[in-house]
Parts: sequence; C-alpha cells; structure tokens
Amino acid sequence: MDQPAGSLATAPLTIVAVYAHPDDGEFHAAGSLAKWAAQGHHVHAICATDGALGSKRRDASPGEVAAARARELTSALAVIGAAPPILLGFPDGFLIDHRKELRERLIHHLRRLRADRVLTFDPHKRYEIHPDHLTVGRMASEAAVFSCFPLLHPEHLDAGLDPVQPEEVWYMGPLEHKPNRVIDIAGTLSTKIAATLCHESQIEMLADWFVKGADPRALTAEQTRQLRSGAETFLEGMGRGMAMAHGGKVEIAECFYALPVGPGHFDNYQQMAMEQMGAPPEEPQFG
Ligand SMILES: [Zn+2]
Repeated sequence: MDQPAGSLATAPLTIVAVYAHPDDGEFHAAGSLAKWAAQGHHVHAICATDGALGSKRRDASPGEVAAARARELTSALAVIGAAPPILLGFPDGFLIDHRKELRERLIHHLRRLRADRVLTFDPHKRYEIHPDHLTVGRMASEAAVFSCFPLLHPEHLDAGLDPVQPEEVWYMGPLEHKPNRVIDIAGTLSTKIAATLCHESQIEMLADWFVKGADPRALTAEQTRQLRSGAETFLEGMGRGMAMAHGGKVEIAECFYALPVGPGHFDNYQQMAMEQMGAPPEEPQFG
C-alpha cells in the first residue's frame, strides 16, 4: 500500500495522474509525483481538455492558449521526471458533454499503461464548481473500476490490450473525505515549485494576487521576480500547513484520499459502514 514511500522493494508502480487542465496537478500533487518518479516509479499524466480557455488575455486565440499550455505541461512533467503528457484535447469548459468518449479514452490508456494507481480530482467535493474538474474526477474513477471488464470496449482487446485493475484511486486537491495519505515532500518542494513555474500563462493570471496593481501583460523584471517569489512562498506555506494539520510528523506535505479499487466499485464498503456508524476515519498513512 505504501511502497512508494520507501525503497523500491517491489516492482515499480505505474502511476497515472488524470487532469482536466494542463496545470491541475502542480499545486496538489507535483511534489509527490516527483518523489515517486525519483524512486523509480513510472509516472504519467493525462490531460483531458486542451485548456484553451485558460487565459484572461484578449489578444490570444484559443489555439494559441492551448498550444502554450501544452508546452508548459510538457516542461513541467520533464521537471517532475514524468513521461511526456498524453493530451486528449477535449474542449475546455465542456468536458461534461464528452463523458462517454472521455471514459473510453481513459480506459484505453489505463489498459495500455498497465496502471497501478490513478490520481485525480475528488468528484464528490462539495462547492467544487468547475465542471471539468468534477467530470474528470468522476470519469477517471469510473475508468479505474471498469478497466478490468473484458466485455467493455472489446475493441481495445482486439487491438492487443488486456484488461487491468489498478490498485487504488487517489483523490488530490480539495477533498470531501479526511485525507488518508500524507506524503512528505520536503525533498521535492523545490521540484514542485519549478514545475509550477513552468505554467507561465497561469502564474501570470495570479499577478494581481502576488504583485498588487501589476499588469499581467506588461510585467517588469522586478514584478516577475516578486511574482515568482510569491508563488514559492505560497506553495511552501501550503505544504507546511498540510503537514501541521496532520500532527507535524513531517515538515512539508501533500495530502490525498486513497480508495482501493474493486471490479466495478471502490472496495471501501467496510470502512464506509464503520464511519456511518460513528467510527472515526482511518488514521492517515505517512509516506
Ligand atoms: Zn483545472
């Protein structure tokens, strides 16, 4: 269950992060992904949409924004030590209209990569408003529990793929359930920051947040420095806060809620039943 935290006593895992947008993974999971990659696990990222709406600029076309963001994700994954991105290219903001095709593509890639672990957004999070985040979390979860059924998308088998049953789905970002995995990312915080800063088009949108009054289209060198410094401070503070919230056993952390995968369902009935009867959630595993 917690092999990635330690040495590679067992075969490397294949870990597949499934995002809605090119920058979705950096804030929530880049430190863990970089740690696992450094430990020898195979880390992949699938991005469902083209990210073409992710800019406040009025002088950029959707195609230009999508192309820039694809380049940014490719750079970020290289920094993390992950494989180049798998870009599905569904329309940004409208993923909910492509659920069936998205799930088929995800099942295809989970089978092709022989996924052991799937990382994605928690589709059950209250107040998560972005429909792409909710859709990608839901469809990645469904893909993880359905990939084992040979009668589903038999065309994949005809093309030489085999069914696969990943071990777990890990939810990242805002969680509906108390985290049960706390990953120590003190050793990869600088990698996480470097990967996040690859997403220049997105960092630019935070300009006014970190540098009051800054025009994101005409940043001075000093404002760019302040912007990067603000992003670094923010990410480090976020990691320290996560660690403190879990007893301070580690200094800087990323937190997840991991669910074991069964055929067609999550294999969590006993835990859920216990919690419904008033038992506390399981204690987090540190890794
Ligand atoms: Zn997003």
